[in-house]
Amino acid sequence: MLLTITSRSDQARDLGFLLHKHPDEFQTFDLSFGKCHVFYPQADDTICTVALLLEIDPVKLVRGGSKGKNDAPLSQYVNDRPYVASSLMSVALGKVFRTALNGQCKERPELAERELDLTVEISAAPVKGGTFFLEQVFEPLGYRIEAERLALDEKFPDWGESKLYRIMLKSKATLKSVLNHLYVLIPVLDSEKHYYVGEEEIDKLVRRGEDWLGDHPQKEAIARRYLFNRRSLAAQALERLLGEEGESIETEDKKEPELEEKLEEKISLNEIRMKTVVASLKDSGARRVIDLGCGEGKLLRHLIDDYAFTEIAGTDVSIRVLDMAKKRLKLSRIPEKKADRLKLFQGSLMYRDSRIAGYDAATCVEVIEHLDEPRLQAFEKVVFKYAKPPVVIITTPNSEYNVLFENMPTGQLRHKDHRFEWTREQFRQWCDKICANYGYKVEHLPIGDEDKEHGAPTQMGVFSSGN
Ligand code: SAH
Repeated sequence: MLLTITSRSDQARDLGFLLHKHPDEFQTFDLSFGKCHVFYPQADDTICTVALLLEIDPVKLVRGGSKGKNDAPLSQYVNDRPYVASSLMSVALGKVFRTALNGQCKERPELAERELDLTVEISAAPVKGGTFFLEQVFEPLGYRIEAERLALDEKFPDWGESKLYRIMLKSKATLKSVLNHLYVLIPVLDSEKHYYVGEEEIDKLVRRGEDWLGDHPQKEAIARRYLFNRRSLAAQALERLLGEEGESIETEDKKEPELEEKLEEKISLNEIRMKTVVASLKDSGARRVIDLGCGEGKLLRHLIDDYAFTEIAGTDVSIRVLDMAKKRLKLSRIPEKKADRLKLFQGSLMYRDSRIAGYDAATCVEVIEHLDEPRLQAFEKVVFKYAKPPVVIITTPNSEYNVLFENMPTGQLRHKDHRFEWTREQFRQWCDKICANYGYKVEHLPIGDEDKEHGAPTQMGVFSSGN
């Protein structure tokens, strides 16, 4: 298992000072599960690479009491741990680069503050969720990512791909922040921890995630995977990182347990959905946008970060979720110029409301299925007859796709508050009726991985009035 960090600058060998490891030395450290070697494959004035090579002894690993959760007896000895980057790498980082992880550099304190051009390479890591998950996790932290899925065996291409990726991450950042990101995120990629996950793991997560995890859009997934999917521990960690905001995350978890069951899908589908909606809005040229049934502000978060949108509104019938949106969007903490573009207000989509009129576009993401079907007509009038924005984007589940969700009994809806879920044909018919009644055209687009027979998990209609 090999991790390298390369620094490029006109004083690249400074990396040695920062890591407290001399570039000309080869050093070996003993760990409970094997050895860790630190050396520099290259170290000149412009480019300097440090390598961390873990030599894991599978027998020691077992003696240390470390056992995967569903392991067959032999898998304690025959497993991928010696070869892949995992939580063991974090243990090694914590031991050999502790001072750098803490951002200390006694001899040259100013160096620790300096942002460097850093490239991290991880030779092989299992990534649950693939490149999509890598992007979700590293991009918000400012990394450029290159990832290559490795063959099971290069000599036998027919055997296909392994679950391992070679990963390259580039960033201009302090060494401390990069090491802390790696410390938390390497085990998260895999979520297979080799040791018992208990309360002290929360301390590690809070300490190493202190400067960045609280603001990370995937903080829930990261905390949960880091803590081996122990939700109560993840909630405690987030509570400590976020203060009062953690509380709302926990209550939300309790309220919607069924959404948690397929966390991976939920995260990725949600993100894909938001990105697709934003892309459609941008295509339409809309600058003033209202999100109807905005919930806790998942779409608003994307909109507010993009200055192409000059005026943004969010409305929802629930005061509770609007409060949550306020907290999550950190309106009191972000620059005024950014926050002033956004307004949130409570209202119902069942009643004509002049406050939702006058925008270039309205979005309604995963909302219609929460309305009683007989009352949809009222919604149609409120949006298409009275507010009548030139563009309306509506997304809703495609019920045909439900058979592809594991653990989902036939006939069950995806969420307990859904009043209905439509097939593609049912959605099409509803959209056509709106177009005929109110003078709109509609374009249908799939969201998420499309299955040949059952379509995509989410369906989207983009209405335009051509006004
Ligand atoms: N668009 C958000 C939330 C979807 S959940 C997202 O994609 O994350 C559905 C939302 O519709 C809930 O927040 C719920 O409070 C809201 N909602 C339900 N009935 C409503 C109504 N009559 N008027 C306005 N919002 C409503």
